[in-house]
Amino acid sequence: MTDNLFNLQDNLQSPGFLRMSLAAAMTLGFKNGLFYRNAKLYCINLLLTYPEGCAARCAYCGLSGNRPGQYTEKRFIRVTWPIYALEDIIQRILERTHRVKRICISMITRKRCVPDTLDICRKLRNAVDIPVSILVSPTLLKYEDLQALKNAGADKIGVAVDLATEPLFIQYRGKGVGGPHQWDRYWECLRQGVEIFGNGNAGPHFMAGMGETEKEMSLAMQKSRDMGGRTHLFSFFPEAGSLLENKGMPPMDQYRRIQLARYLIDHELSRADGFSFDQDQRILHYGLSSEQLETVVNSGEPFRTSGCSGNDGEVACNRPFANSRPGPDIRNFPFLPDAGDIENIRRQLNFPCSNKTVTIQRK
Ligand code: SF4
Repeated sequence: MTDNLFNLQDNLQSPGFLRMSLAAAMTLGFKNGLFYRNAKLYCINLLLTYPEGCAARCAYCGLSGNRPGQYTEKRFIRVTWPIYALEDIIQRILERTHRVKRICISMITRKRCVPDTLDICRKLRNAVDIPVSILVSPTLLKYEDLQALKNAGADKIGVAVDLATEPLFIQYRGKGVGGPHQWDRYWECLRQGVEIFGNGNAGPHFMAGMGETEKEMSLAMQKSRDMGGRTHLFSFFPEAGSLLENKGMPPMDQYRRIQLARYLIDHELSRADGFSFDQDQRILHYGLSSEQLETVVNSGEPFRTSGCSGNDGEVACNRPFANSRPGPDIRNFPFLPDAGDIENIRRQLNFPCSNKTVTIQRK
């Protein structure tokens, strides 16, 4: 067992060792604990680890080279990511195949990540019959590398475009922070991913609340869908120690409107170019009848976490409380919202009580 050997962490590096989200460590029984409202995670989220850390400098990321401190002790997406041996991880998964519907390997920006990710993916796929996603690092990868990942057994990829517009991408990930990432390369990687892995099997991560308008985010998600991608949506949460640690989260009503937009776009129930917006480019109308929109909102589905699914077609990567604290103001629901949640969501959307109109009223 290799839990909590932080003093020896320079030796605990990939491909033999991986960091694992705290939620995944709880799922595999490495850590004790229960989630708020008994939420359950069905994806084992893994992250490559090296003593030299990540070479990128993204302003909002807990792993950024901009951030002081040792890589292995940096928090990421609100929680610690303890290190475990790959062979221990495989053993635990084999003991809990009923609980694990997907595995995700997140790359960081280090050249050696490419062969190591291939190696880890092969070992996992040879050991367990559970689908594997790769959260890829487009800056490192060529077309042939994506093909090699598919040949190694991965069936889906995520591309963390994160920002909805090129100026924001440059500001927070590119030249603005002295980072290596390029907007065009990320979109090209997504296009290549769809070509290699198939329609719906590659998708961007987008993070709402980075200064984009609702129209810009809607159009970015539509661009992804038109390419064959499906969006995995996040609400910005300030990562302690990052350059943006003092930036606030987006207002809840804004995030709820974007969640609804994502669902309608990805399920091809409406299109961003059919939405209407107010003078501040906030969504006013989704181009649907009131009955259609009521049905969608009341289903609660748009407000669940959007992430890679398991073989049963249900979202496996539901990341409980990864971008909001446990409590009544859940942003991405890791389970289907109940009637009380939907009532709360309707209030947050400022949805009219009457079922007769679909225009979202402003406060
Ligand atoms: S949605 Fe989850 S499983 Fe899919 S690529 Fe993103 S982090 Fe990985």
